[in-house]
Amino acid sequence: MQIATTVRHARAFFDVLPRPLGFVPTMGALHEGHLALVHRAREACASVAASVFVNPLQFGPGEDLEKYPRDPEADRAKLDAAGVDVLFLPAYEAMYPSHFSTYVDAGTIGTRYEGAMRPTHFRGVTTVVTKLLNVVRPEVMFLGQKDAQQTAVLRKMVADLDVPTRIEVVPTIREADGLAMSSRNLYLSHNERAAAPTLHGTLQALRTAMEGGKSKDEAIAEARTCLSPLAHLDYLDVVDANTFEPIEELAPPAFIIGAARFGATRLLDNLWLQ
Ligand code: AMP
Repeated sequence: MQIATTVRHARAFFDVLPRPLGFVPTMGALHEGHLALVHRAREACASVAASVFVNPLQFGPGEDLEKYPRDPEADRAKLDAAGVDVLFLPAYEAMYPSHFSTYVDAGTIGTRYEGAMRPTHFRGVTTVVTKLLNVVRPEVMFLGQKDAQQTAVLRKMVADLDVPTRIEVVPTIREADGLAMSSRNLYLSHNERAAAPTLHGTLQALRTAMEGGKSKDEAIAEARTCLSPLAHLDYLDVVDANTFEPIEELAPPAFIIGAARFGATRLLDNLWLQ
């Protein structure tokens, strides 16, 4: 696996890779969820690129940027073993030189749910992904269903801005007890970790109640009781998968989405109705 730390070196590597090139952007602290994206890229593409960059632009003031888990050595070994050809590992200055001042607006989808809780988050995501796509120039970018709203924001961005990259979404990888794998799971205390799978249980209860004929409001009220009392629910809803507008029926393509805080740790999860 080749490693590039500057835009110029990265381009030199990417320009000569066999096509199609698949790309997996990450913030590191890699787990099986990230590696599922790499495996899918390896299956579908002649070459695979990955990036590890903890993007300050997508963290708000008071969020966990400083303490976000970092494990560069283990990340390199995992990506190498998974068959990545080139790893782009830029330093902060390589991505945001002094006087950097241009941002990509994340549009209406970026104002809802996660965007309402974290007002500058999606603008940070669309800006960094635009930069990464301009450096890597992949035919396909692989994203995790785990961050459902991010997939909708980036699909819209790629369509609106005529970006010549196709997006493929890979299903969420879970722990045996149903908890969606996430780098942030490392923050959970013993009790919070034990309570965390109830978020997935809440989403499943909502689906079951609506499939059983309950209205969305009734189903949400019933499903909320499945969440551990340790958790604070930020939102729970059913949305159109493309627009992230709330919908009243389980009409595919849709997501059942939820976010909850377990102590200081916010966890997201969703069910995808295709
Ligand atoms: P992150 O490092 O958290 O920015 O995630 C990088 C990519 O991995 C994103 O496309 C995520 O949606 C994806 N990802 C994270 N966790 C999972 C998971 N449990 N299953 C599948 N994909 C995931």
